[in-house]
Amino acid sequence: MNIEQSMALFREKCNQHGLKITPQRTAIFEEMVRAKDHPSTDDLYQRIVRIFPNISFDTVYRTLLSFSQMGIVNVVEGYGEKKRFDPNIETHHHFRCMKCYEIIDFSSESLDCIEIPQELQNRFKIVNKRVVLEGLCDKCSK
Ligand SMILES: [Zn+2]
Ligand SMILES: [Zn+2]
Repeated sequence: MNIEQSMALFREKCNQHGLKITPQRTAIFEEMVRAKDHPSTDDLYQRIVRIFPNISFDTVYRTLLSFSQMGIVNVVEGYGEKKRFDPNIETHHHFRCMKCYEIIDFSSESLDCIEIPQELQNRFKIVNKRVVLEGLCDKCSK
């Protein structure tokens, strides 16, 4: 999806969910779509406050949660770290650096088709398949 397609999806979803399209929400979403680093609320707040100096951290946080409920961003659950957001809503997988916590997207058709053990299929309804590889990124492994 390119930026225009993402913005069109944003407007469509806002209309669908009765969320008013304000300049602040548009800016938050646009910043999110441009972000390649799976930013936390804090990261996004730092970027948005430069455009809207009066915006509160809480507004940014609540806006991101609405976006995730609307399915236009994903929440990447940390492991006791800050909640991170992911604008890439297409199927993909993550490499996560254990030292600097950088999260890098990658795609793999064979991982998309990963087989779920029968026992899990019987017990749970699987809605999302994402493989997370962990290790050290190129910067940290030096
Ligand atoms: Zn790293
Ligand atoms: Zn991602």
